[in-house]
Amino acid sequence: MSASTAAAALASLLDYSPAWLPDVNHWEVAQDGGRWIVQGQLAGDPGESAAIKALRPVVEQSGQELADDGRLITAGFEVDGVPCMVWSLRPVLRWAVPETCATCPTELAPDVRFVWLGEGGREAPVLCVPCRDRMQASWVASHGSPLVAARLQAHELLLAETETERPAWRQVHTVMGGAHPDAIGPVCLDDEHDADDPTAYACCPEPVIEVESHVIGAYLVELLNADAVAGEPA
Ligand SMILES: [Zn+2]
Ligand SMILES: [Zn+2]
Repeated sequence: MSASTAAAALASLLDYSPAWLPDVNHWEVAQDGGRWIVQGQLAGDPGESAAIKALRPVVEQSGQELADDGRLITAGFEVDGVPCMVWSLRPVLRWAVPETCATCPTELAPDVRFVWLGEGGREAPVLCVPCRDRMQASWVASHGSPLVAARLQAHELLLAETETERPAWRQVHTVMGGAHPDAIGPVCLDDEHDADDPTAYACCPEPVIEVESHVIGAYLVELLNADAVAGEPA
């Protein structure tokens, strides 16, 4: 079978234009493993089920089953002994994968696992799997954890005591002349209280918490101040 035989079959197909033939974007005569065939892409950029529906009349007419290699859905038929086909590219494979993850610089190379967010539409962000896992872990950590519940309750208590949204903590002395601070407490904002004076007076907000070890006291102050920042609502 020659190219001209295939071209003649295409001409007669277009001339005859049978009712079972779906709209095709572009017909061509092509070589397929040593033989000449006629092929065309299904018009309209349809999704998978629409493509299968559009190709069904071809299948019914030809008696050839749809071929599907996971990438192309193909309906074959014959015109004057020339093999013909209408094919449709699976939509998901037409969606271009972005070069990098939407939330980190990881390149989405073929060996990188990634996921489409949401419905997985063309505009959906694509994340590498480590980013997806990090997001999931941080969501779990930030919703319903005991830390979050305790932080909220402490926040309300401190707000009532200090009238400050996020009071900073510091080490304080509850007795004059101690070598080391023996307690921690919210920073006092009283005008009369010198900011450099680490002593707890009547002006200072509660709770002043005695901590036997000043080393642990320093650590608790750092933890409380860091966690107040971490717990800021976005
Ligand atoms: Zn990433
Ligand atoms: Zn004070």
